[in-house]
Amino acid sequence: MTKADLMHMHMPPFARIQWADPAYEAVWGPRINRISQAFHRLELLSVAAGLRRVATAHFRPEDLPRGVGELARMGLSYLPLRQVGAYTGFAHYHPPVEPGKPWTYYGVVGRPAALSAFAEATDRGDHNALGELLGYPACCRAFFSEVWTAGFIDPVWHAAQNALLEGAEAVEEAPRLLHLKGHYPEVLPVLRYIGVRLVPHIPHSLRCEASRRMAQDWMALAREEGLGEEVDWAYEMLGWAMEWSVLHGIAEVRTPYFKIATNSIASKEKWTVRLEGNVPEDAPRGLSYPYRVPRKTLTNHPAFIEVENWAR
Ligand SMILES: [Zn+2]
Repeated sequence: MTKADLMHMHMPPFARIQWADPAYEAVWGPRINRISQAFHRLELLSVAAGLRRVATAHFRPEDLPRGVGELARMGLSYLPLRQVGAYTGFAHYHPPVEPGKPWTYYGVVGRPAALSAFAEATDRGDHNALGELLGYPACCRAFFSEVWTAGFIDPVWHAAQNALLEGAEAVEEAPRLLHLKGHYPEVLPVLRYIGVRLVPHIPHSLRCEASRRMAQDWMALAREEGLGEEVDWAYEMLGWAMEWSVLHGIAEVRTPYFKIATNSIASKEKWTVRLEGNVPEDAPRGLSYPYRVPRKTLTNHPAFIEVENWAR
């Protein structure tokens, strides 16, 4: 995927989940919320525990006094850096503040020396220094500088290609299609749109060793802090068979139980990454990836037709 494959447009931030059946939502919906909250907490705990020097954080103005008080009890401070427009869903960039609309403080959490270093690196626009303070591996910082700054705000395709160079196996490879096996679930960025992730950054490769070690450290910390259930659910989800694709600024992620639509790269054509993984026993069946092929493939049963329509 190169710059010539992109259109000149960008989508406003959004992320929507569509469930195959409300029964799956009843189980996994609350789990996704808990995973998302646990990861948010882990972002701060990782700084308090010394796994990295800073984390970024947003506060609504009315929440700032309470938030700063909680951080102080963890031995951490907050430095607000700027005001950004409030948004729902997943943003690849900071929307500007619009008059009369809600906004939040964007800032940095850590100990005072690290906060100053982060503020100075922000002024210089030094992505490498910012990434280092945030604890991101050097390989992923270099990837970010090269790929993200070239306009690939959601570089899943690039990370999948790098995985192939680093020992992952191609189950199938065609123009704009890569079906991968042997990637590391811990580092996958394809569910981060809904807050399900085990590393805070986009890895340079879906087989990044440094990111995998970071995820393992964070999972160990989560268990010490009573967030073991949440990281185990996240790991289970990231181990599912999934398909990520992007077209015209919208990425779609299909999992065995739901699909996500979110703003992404404005590609002229559809690019697809399939990830080999587990399909839970109770997941719906269907003919397209990642659904298991139904036992009777040529059925006109209404329930089956419904699942197929949903999976399209
Ligand atoms: Zn890396």
